[in-house]
Parts: sequence; structure tokens; C-alpha cells
Amino acid sequence: MFSELIKQIRTLYPGREAISLHEPLFAGREKEYTTQAIDSTFVSSVGAFVERFEQDICAFTGADYAVATVTGTAALHAALLAMGVRPEDEVLTQPLSFVATANAINYCGARPIFLDVERDTLGLSPAALEDFLTTHTICRDNTCYNRATQRRIAACVPMHTFGHPVRIEEVVAICRRHHIAVVEDAAEALGSKYRGRHCGTFGDLGIYSFNGNKTITCGGGGMVVGHDKKLTDRVRHLTTTAKIPHPWQYRHDQAGYNYRMPNLNAALGCAQLEMLPAFLADKRELAAEYEKILVAVPALEFIREPAEARSNYWLNALLTSDREQRDRLLAACHKEKIFCRPAWDLLNTLPMYNDCQTDNLTTANWLADRLINLPSSVRQLNRQRTPEAV
Ligand SMILES: *Cc1c(COP(=O)(O)O)cnc(C)c1O
Repeated sequence: MFSELIKQIRTLYPGREAISLHEPLFAGREKEYTTQAIDSTFVSSVGAFVERFEQDICAFTGADYAVATVTGTAALHAALLAMGVRPEDEVLTQPLSFVATANAINYCGARPIFLDVERDTLGLSPAALEDFLTTHTICRDNTCYNRATQRRIAACVPMHTFGHPVRIEEVVAICRRHHIAVVEDAAEALGSKYRGRHCGTFGDLGIYSFNGNKTITCGGGGMVVGHDKKLTDRVRHLTTTAKIPHPWQYRHDQAGYNYRMPNLNAALGCAQLEMLPAFLADKRELAAEYEKILVAVPALEFIREPAEARSNYWLNALLTSDREQRDRLLAACHKEKIFCRPAWDLLNTLPMYNDCQTDNLTTANWLADRLINLPSSVRQLNRQRTPEAV
């Protein structure tokens, strides 16, 4: 029943038997830079590539300061700690996200509250946020408290789903009015923009991930970005075991974390970042081709970038008409070794978060039943692997 569609998807990745969801591409100076890192003997968390990668990310995104970390999850954890999220606090976020978003909140000893997402952005709904804050919270001494639990609402973590920008300016404005810090989970959104400005740079702090399946990769890695040096210095301190800088003395002023990115990974990151503009152009072209294919299939809807946004199209996505059709399409694709996947199970349904407060989550549930991610690797991969190509 989906055989024509599957044939069309195959044309996007010619010569590939199995088509994975997202694989990395190393076509730049990755070997050169990692060899330099090895030759320098600085392979661990001190080294020239770590600083260079941080500066390069600042130059690319327009952030003023950046701190490289071992993973995106560690970046999110450290960012939340730096914003003062403490045990017993509550943090607003969306249920349609990768588990790391809620886990990082959990690592702080805080509890997530899951609010609904929007149909067009797939991210946290400003209307749902405003509605929750108006109905369920009270402000005392410039601090927002949950009426039901009397706990402080310390932060909000909006996430740019699959690289599609959240209405982030609206989210930040609402949070400011309610004295709530914003940590932007831009793990999937490096290169995405909202109203001409890079995702990750709107919140008090933002984070990126460079895991193997993200748009560019360090093997594993993350980055915290921000505009306030005091905040990013706090992140740096927390991620370097809270060691007080000193030529020989080893003194730590709190229980910090060993979260800094090794130089070897940063070397890979520097080389990948050089490729990012080409990757983004390639991904945009692929998205346009998917859109053209899916226009011809009335039952399916391709997810376009939202208004006023430029998406990096990290993972292309479509909507089926219901859950049953979604599962039929997934089964048909997997049978043909096209490794599509559904959206994550909503975070509020996972055993460790199923007692967390939520709003009605109408749109999140509706989307979760219908979303499918499509293979979205950069396609120079195929061109390069085709022997006859020069
Ligand atoms: C990838 C990702 C992270 C961080 O993941 P790491 O694998 O730890 O780098 C965080 N949030 C979201 C939404 C992600 O997709």
C-alpha cells in the first residue's frame, strides 16, 4: 500500500540497501584535526581544540560565551544547575522530547511539569505556558510558586523538536514576566533560526548536542551557550570539578562534575563545524524533495518549517492520519530496511515521570500518535560512496 512511497524514498538515497535514520558524514578535516590532537598529546579536557570549538560555535551562532561538555545531557544538567535549579524545585517543559530533557531536570533533584506543544512548531506552546502560569501559579518576592504543590518553579526548558524552532521569543517573554529562567534545549537545532537569530541564543542559557546522530558530531559532546559571562563561568566551574584555578593546588569549592569535553572530541567538532553550512544546504534540499514526494500522498502531511523560522531539518517528519496508519507505514518501511521511526513515547508516560503534573497535552498526544521521522542523513554520503563518482 505504501510501495510507491517507499520507492520514492529509495530514490533519495540511490544505491543504498539499508537507509538509516541519521548517520554522520566525515568528509572534511576530521582526520587531520584528530591527528593533530593526538600528536599534541593533549587529548583530554585541556587543549587548543576545546577553546577553538567554543569560539567557533560562538562565531557561528552569535552567542557571546560557550562551554564545551562531554554530552548534550551534561550541558543541560550544568545549565540548569547554573540557573539555580535545586532539589524540590519544579521545571516546566514539553512531553514531546528526548528523555534527556526530563532526566537533566531530574538530576538536579527537581521535578518536570509537562505542558502542551503546538501543532505547527512541535514545541512548547506559548498559549499553554501562559495558561498554566496564570491558572496554577502565584508570584511572591519575584519568585513563581505552583499553587498546588507550593514548590518554586525555577526554570522552563523549551525544546526545538527535530530542529523546528519553538516560538522562542514568546516563551522567553512569558517566562520573564513570571520570573522563570529559560534554558533552551537546542540539542537538535544547531543552525536553526527564529526571526533571523540562532536557536539556543534566546534563553538565559542554551545547549547543543554533538552526539553521533545529530547534525554535526564530536562522537559525543555538548555545548552550553549564553550571553552572561557570570553564568557561563559558573557552568565552566561546575563542569571542571569545581576546581579553583591555581598552578599547582588542587582545591575544589563544591561537588562539581567531570563534564568537560576532551580535546580529541573537540578536534572532531571543529572539523565538523566547518562542514555545517554545506550540511544545512544539503538537508534543506532533501526536505524540499520529501515535501514534493509527500504532496502526492493525500493521507500524509510533510512537516514544514514554522512561520518566521528557518529549520535545520535535522530530522524530516511527516504526519499520518492516525496511529494505526502510522504503525502500518513504520512496518512497511522497516520491512524494506528504511529505518523510519515514530516520535519518542511522551515523557509523561515513562515510569519515572508518570506522576508528574501535566496540562491536558491534547496536541502532544495527537502528534505522538501520528508522527514519523524520515531518513535524514546528509546525502553527500551516497555521492562519496559511489565508486564511479569523482
Ligand atoms: C540529543 C538530545 C539531547 C542531548 O543528548 P546527548 O546524547 O546527551 O548529547 C538533549 N535533548 C534533546 C532533545 C536531544 O535530542
